[in-house]
This record gives sequence, structure tokens and C-alpha cells, in this order.
Amino acid sequence: MSTLFHPSLYRFAEAQPSYWEASAGTPNLQGKKLEGDQQCDVAIIGGGYTGLSAAYHLVRDYQVDVRVLEAGHIGWGASGRNGGFCCLGSSKLSVKTQISRFGIDETRAYHRCLVDAVEMVRALGQDEAIDFLPQGDAEYGVAESRKHFAAMQSQAEFERRELGMDYHMISQGEFAERGYDAPHQHGAMVIRPGFGLHPLRYCQGLAEAAERRGAVLHPHSRVLQWRKQGDRHLLETADGTLTATRVILTGNGFMPEHLHRGIAERPLPIQSQIVVTRPMSPEELRERGWFTQNPTYNSKRMFFYYRVLSDGRFMCGGRGNHIGDPLGAGQVFTRMQREIARMWPRFADLEFTHQWRGLVCFTRTLRPSVGRMPEDPSIYFGYAYHGNGVANASWTGRALAQWLAGADSGNDLLPMHLPAIMRGRSPRFPFGFLRRQYLRLGMTYYRLLDWLDR
Ligand SMILES: Cc1cc2nc3c(=O)[nH]c(=O)nc-3n(C[C@H](O)[C@H](O)[C@H](O)COP(=O)(O)OP(=O)(O)OC[C@H]3O[C@@H](n4cnc5c(N)ncnc54)[C@H](O)[C@@H]3O)c2cc1C
Repeated sequence: MSTLFHPSLYRFAEAQPSYWEASAGTPNLQGKKLEGDQQCDVAIIGGGYTGLSAAYHLVRDYQVDVRVLEAGHIGWGASGRNGGFCCLGSSKLSVKTQISRFGIDETRAYHRCLVDAVEMVRALGQDEAIDFLPQGDAEYGVAESRKHFAAMQSQAEFERRELGMDYHMISQGEFAERGYDAPHQHGAMVIRPGFGLHPLRYCQGLAEAAERRGAVLHPHSRVLQWRKQGDRHLLETADGTLTATRVILTGNGFMPEHLHRGIAERPLPIQSQIVVTRPMSPEELRERGWFTQNPTYNSKRMFFYYRVLSDGRFMCGGRGNHIGDPLGAGQVFTRMQREIARMWPRFADLEFTHQWRGLVCFTRTLRPSVGRMPEDPSIYFGYAYHGNGVANASWTGRALAQWLAGADSGNDLLPMHLPAIMRGRSPRFPFGFLRRQYLRLGMTYYRLLDWLDR
């Protein structure tokens, strides 16, 4: 099976050497790999937030007979290795473009869903006693220059007025006391709701809750072939076959595109890489000019996202290259460490203890993709959170469950109960095999804009 990126990104039997894997503990999960011929009503491909949340809500609210097939361990994909920002977002279209294309009402509805998604994860953690180590009470967007601060200020005002968002600005001096003190910060936007969490613990807790309520999870069960026999789907793994009446296809940046023509060449996976330092005590953090637990990003187009973790480590993430090879990834990790020293000179001597990478998912339309396959309406899908899936993939899983099992499912191919911005399947990329080259051009262009804008 050929892969879009370097094969090293698709080793399903191996866990990432992430800080999350090192600190999550062993989950209390009973699921075994699929063996022999098995049946269910709804089969879900992919054991990340989208698939697990769909499974959890299908069993909890509708008592549906559900099984999840996951190629690696539960949370092997982006859901177990992300930055843990449980924050707003999921489209890369600017708000002004959203309004001009979809209208103000749809844009407002979409933003209400984003807020609901963050609240939903917080509530899930409480309801199911998931110990995902929540941190902070907002997300910060840090201006890299005075010009960026002014642009953010007018964005905050606009979105507060037009969409009712809870955004406000704090000055450079105030942020130096509440956030962090460093040469490249020129004030920040405070974005609510938003918080940080331990992504793998959240994923495992969601899986445990789904199992407790009756979902059957099959880790290490990569779907290799997907056939249709009459109106039944046959999902074949190395050791078994699962027969189902309906399928929810997830996968996001790791989408198994080869399984169905209806999904091929539609997602745009992009590498994201993360480094983590040794822990610091609260006193040491204060001495080094760091005062916040809130997840934070900076205002460049090729931005960094960063936060202090619950044990005082500093975590920073950014884009990887367009190839995905280990050598190139190593060069990116080295560049990130150099950038950290430049951006936060007081962190320059810290040792790094963990580094890892994974794939996020964009689309041609720069918005999430939720729907039913026009060629076969018994297939539902949800993907493309544009690097913001902790809250939004969880929310989409619930929306898929409600749609599939709920009274309002009807015959719509599009989830008409969801805002238009998320509806429908993203278009195919022309000459899809060139997607990494498009990405390369796009990243070069954005780097150039960032350089001109410095
Ligand atoms: C490094 C990194 C940092 C990120 N940081 C953040 C962040 O801070 N905040 C945020 O909101 N989002 C972040 N994201 C994005 C977020 O993690 C994703 O949007 C979200 O996890 C998507 O969930 P998912 O369930 O749709 O996909 P995934 O979690 O990727 O799950 C898809 C699963 O499908 C499985 N699969 C693939 N092929 C098959 C097959 N043939 N058979 C069975 N299973 C298969 C994969 O093994 C995988 O586990 C980050 C992502 C990365 C990679």
C-alpha cells in the first residue's frame, strides 16, 4: 500500500516516543484485535477522538451495536499525540470569508458549535471521571509585532460584535506579568473558552467510557480491504472480517484513502512536530519569566503552539516538512530548538527530553468535512479539523452519532442540522498525488510572507 508521506509515519505497531505515551499510564481497556468473522450494526474505522466519541455517544444515547477498528493501539493517531489544546477553531477560512460565503447566521451557528465543543470535552471529563489534567482558563494568541497586535485587536472587536465571541486584548506589559516575558511578545488576545489537557489520557478515558457503556473496541486491527456484499459492508483485517450495515469512516491525517474511492485524494495531511523540555518547578518557571498555564500560539502564518505542562515542562509544536522522512524531521526538531532559544532566550539552556510528530488534516476548502458518502449513504464520515481536533473531532463524533441514530437522520446526504461550514465532503485535489508538492509551495509562500512581515 503506497502512502502519501514517508512510510515511517504509518508504523501502526509502534507508539510515538512522546511525553504523553511516557506519562499516560496503562489504560483499563478490554478490547482485543479482531479475529474471525464478527458482525455489528455500526463499524467505525479509526480509534481517535472522532471514532471514539461517535462510539461513546452511539452506545450511551442510542444503545447501538458498535465496534471500533483501530490500526494501532487506541489513540495511536493524532488523538494520542497532539498538543492538548482544547480550544476553538477547525477551519482555516477567515471569519470574513466565512461570512461572505455562508452568511452571518451560518457563521454564528458554526462559532456556537466551536464553543459547545470545548464545553463538551470539559463536561465529558467530569461526567466520566477522566483524569485528563485540565490546565488554564483560556487560550492566548500572542502578537509577534505591533502590527500583528493591531490586526488582532480589530479581529477581536469584530468577532465580539458580530459573533458574540468572548475575546479581548491584553497589552505587552500586562502579558509580561500574566503570560510570559520575552522579546517577541507584543501583547495578546485572550480567547475563551479554551484550556490544555493530556490528550492521550483524554483519548484513553473516552475509550474506557465507550467500553463501559457497551462499545466493542478492536485495537491492532487495521482494515486492509473493504468490500460490499449486498447491503452489508465487509471490513477485512489481517485476522478477521467485520460485517456491518453502516460504517463511520474517520482517519483525519491518517485517512486510509485506499479503502474507498469516495475518500481518495480529498484530505490534505500535514506534518506537525512537537518538542518537550525537562520539568521546571513553579519557582524556576517564574524566574525564567513564565507565569501562565494557558495554551498559547503566536501570530505568524507558520506559527508555533506552546504551553507549560502540568509537571512544569515546556512544550512547543510547529509544522514539519512536506516529505515526512526521519532525517528531515530531525532537522525540523533541531530548527525548532534553535527557534525556542531565539524566542525565549531564558529557555535557551533547557534540555529537551521528548520529540515526536504526526499528521493533521486540511482540505481544499479549508473547512471541516462531515457527511454521508453520495455513492453509498450507509457510509458516514467526519474529518479535517485543520489542526484543531481535540474539541472539534470529539464534537463531530457526537454529531455523527446523533445523525446516524437520531430521529432527524432522514435521507439527507448532508447533515442539515449542522452549520453549512462543516457540511459535505471536501473536493478532490486535482492530480492528488501532487498534494505534497502543493503543500511545499504553500509553506514556502507563507514563510516568505512571514519574513516580509517581520
Ligand atoms: C503533532 C500534533 C499536534 C496537534 N495539536 C493539536 C492541539 O493542540 N489541539 C487540537 O485541537 N488539535 C491538535 N491536533 C489535531 C488533532 O489531534 C486531530 O485533529 C484529532 O486528533 C483528529 O482525531 P481523529 O479521530 O479524527 O483522527 P486520529 O486521532 O488521527 O485517528 C485516526 C485513526 O485512524 C486509524 N486508522 C488509519 N487507517 C486505518 C485503517 N485502515 N484501519 C483502522 N484504523 C485506521 C489511525 O491509526 C488513527 O489512530 C494535533 C495533531 C498533531 C499530529
